[in-house]
Amino acid sequence: MKIFYNTKDIQTYLAIQKSQSIGFVPTMGALHEGHISLIATARQKCHIVVVSIFVNPTQFLASEDIDKYPSKLLADENICRLAKVDVLFVPTVSQIYHKPETKLLAPSSKAYILEGIDRPGHFDGVLQVVLKLFHIVRPDFAFFGKKDAQQLYLVQNMVETYFLDISIVPCETVRETTGLAKSSRNSYLSSDDRIEADQISKSLKTAVKQVQAGEHSTELLKSTIKEKLANLSICYVEIVDRQFDSIDTIKPNDTIILVAVSIGKTRLIDNIWL
Ligand code: AMP
Repeated sequence: MKIFYNTKDIQTYLAIQKSQSIGFVPTMGALHEGHISLIATARQKCHIVVVSIFVNPTQFLASEDIDKYPSKLLADENICRLAKVDVLFVPTVSQIYHKPETKLLAPSSKAYILEGIDRPGHFDGVLQVVLKLFHIVRPDFAFFGKKDAQQLYLVQNMVETYFLDISIVPCETVRETTGLAKSSRNSYLSSDDRIEADQISKSLKTAVKQVQAGEHSTELLKSTIKEKLANLSICYVEIVDRQFDSIDTIKPNDTIILVAVSIGKTRLIDNIWL
């Protein structure tokens, strides 16, 4: 596995591999089984698998403590080697952001709902760094988790809006045996917090069962989820179609139920696709 810390070096290296398909998995590190499943999907589909680890400052709010974001670089390197990653890119902030620069505004108003309300400017920062990484790596395929459904939608939207020649591959959410969606942020949770966090996926499952039993009113389904999460601090419970428009009734194969809660200082998101 080649490791690059420098933008020019990785660009030069990848430019030589022209005839090979490049699969790209952007991450913020502290890798877990969720990331590994993205890498495995890329491994199956592409000749060259590139993983980036970059904790992007422009997607964190001033109130969010970027310095506390878990960092496990040595473990991450080993995970990437075991997962047969070809190229690991670990740039410094100054490699990605040369001068102070204004954020690119996300080209969709959907960046300013849900996560975008609770975390203003978050997706502008996400798309800014993803666009830069796309230009550096020039992948044929890029792999994103459905766990971050709004991010996945916005990246897909950016690729379409700016006519980027990249196929975005959505990947299923990987969960703990309890149902809790794997997340680097889970390491912040105490064992008591984890018991509370397990309620999130349970509430989503209950909603799915209700849908299967014939309940299609999104208001009723949201109420059920909120009741199940009554002990937690709910940021939002929302039901949208795949274009992230709110819907009154469930649309089969075109619905996402999204939940965000805070447990102590840890914000957790999860969703289920119907
Ligand atoms: P992050 O390092 O949190 O920025 O995540 C990097 C990529 O991994 C994103 O595309 C996420 O959606 C994806 N990801 C994070 N957690 C999971 C999970 N539990 N299952 C599948 N993909 C995930």
